[in-house]
Amino acid sequence: RSGVHPGWHEALHAELVRRNPGEPEFHQAALEVLETLAPVLAARPEFAEARIVERICEPERQIIFRVPWQDDSGAIRVNRGFRVEFNSALGPYKGGLRFHSSVNLGIVKFLGFEQIFKNSLTGLNIGGGKGGSDFDPHGRSDAEVMRFCQSFMTELYRHLGEHTDVPAGDIGVGGREIGYLFGQYRRITNRWEAGVLTGKGLDWGGSKARTEATGYGNVLFTEEMLKRRGEEFDGRQVTVSGSGNVAIYTIEKAQALGAHVLTCSDSGGYVVDEKGIDLPLLQEIKEVERGRISEYAERRGSSARYVAGGSVWDVPCDVALPSATQNELGADAARTLVRNGVKAVSEGANMPATPEAVTLLKEAGVAFGPGKAANAGGVATSALEMRQNSAREAWSFERAEGELAAIMRNIHDTCYETAERFGLPGDYVAGANIAGFERVADAMLAQGLI
Ligand code: GLU
Repeated sequence: RSGVHPGWHEALHAELVRRNPGEPEFHQAALEVLETLAPVLAARPEFAEARIVERICEPERQIIFRVPWQDDSGAIRVNRGFRVEFNSALGPYKGGLRFHSSVNLGIVKFLGFEQIFKNSLTGLNIGGGKGGSDFDPHGRSDAEVMRFCQSFMTELYRHLGEHTDVPAGDIGVGGREIGYLFGQYRRITNRWEAGVLTGKGLDWGGSKARTEATGYGNVLFTEEMLKRRGEEFDGRQVTVSGSGNVAIYTIEKAQALGAHVLTCSDSGGYVVDEKGIDLPLLQEIKEVERGRISEYAERRGSSARYVAGGSVWDVPCDVALPSATQNELGADAARTLVRNGVKAVSEGANMPATPEAVTLLKEAGVAFGPGKAANAGGVATSALEMRQNSAREAWSFERAEGELAAIMRNIHDTCYETAERFGLPGDYVAGANIAGFERVADAMLAQGLI
């Protein structure tokens, strides 16, 4: 039987690398899951019998398409669009769209693969998918972004539907982009189908807490991890990387719980602010002006300093919340964090910590929250948005936030208890992977060989 003999996961991973060349991030994400599944495969031989792991690693469908558009000078541009519909055993494909110059098939597959288990952990009925383009919205005018989004949706619409595939945002795709994408979907299909995209504007079907949800959710998850260790956020020094939607609402929630948040960053460098990050100033620069965080230090005064390049993880802290992008926290950063006495690290971004960093942190006894559990609040709130759209309801902020908090506590407890059940106390990585996998695997088994 596959899945139980010694060396099974190495063999399966080697085969996956062979069949998916040039996709290192996908290989990394898959290995990180495969190496934790042995205990559940030993306990449930029917999964190996039905080749569930092999089937999960192969996307149900992969769509790659041309996205031609015209820039403001009239020149014609061509980008590549992707949508990987990875697994629909638990519900319609659900997951964001990333617009960034680094996007390629391997990046989309790593994100889609993570999304399967993340969405499963929410306990809601959403399958896993992801998409995007190598288009970079930075420095583009609103009109250029609109034309790009319209062209992107002109191909993608035929693959979507409120019961089929429901995209949302990710890096480079926020409220503005979702608006243009939704408008084009509506125009082409002649359907006002609110449930086809999430992260919509609040007047036309959006959920009141969706923008905040990923950051808030990670802080709530981290709070639960801290509580298990008799710790709390109040009075603690916190470092955050990134300065997008996830970072901003991570900072807001951590501050609300009494934490002293010292940092934020972008691709150019990081800011450290001894007085604590001034959130309204950061929001003005990032959300209104779409500027760079170097401007934050210039406008904030003497408490803040901008460090061009460098690593935000050099700043000593009790809790580190990486909220920028994949592989932003490597082995050296992990060693520095441990040396500086970090107590918890929790992933607001998808796979920000490298495998070496995760091992170092876990070995040092640091509480480590893996992204597929810790940042699941975003997609969970997307599923709540879909629920409101089906019922043509608009919930209050308090109701949406209350449901989010309950879901995050539940995800935490599921990971914690699953790790205990398999004799791996405190291992949230194994707990998240096993619990996320088991729910999808059970559904696939029940639904037959499809
Ligand atoms: N892009 C987000 C994630 O990584 C959210 C996806 C969604 O809301 O569908 O989970």
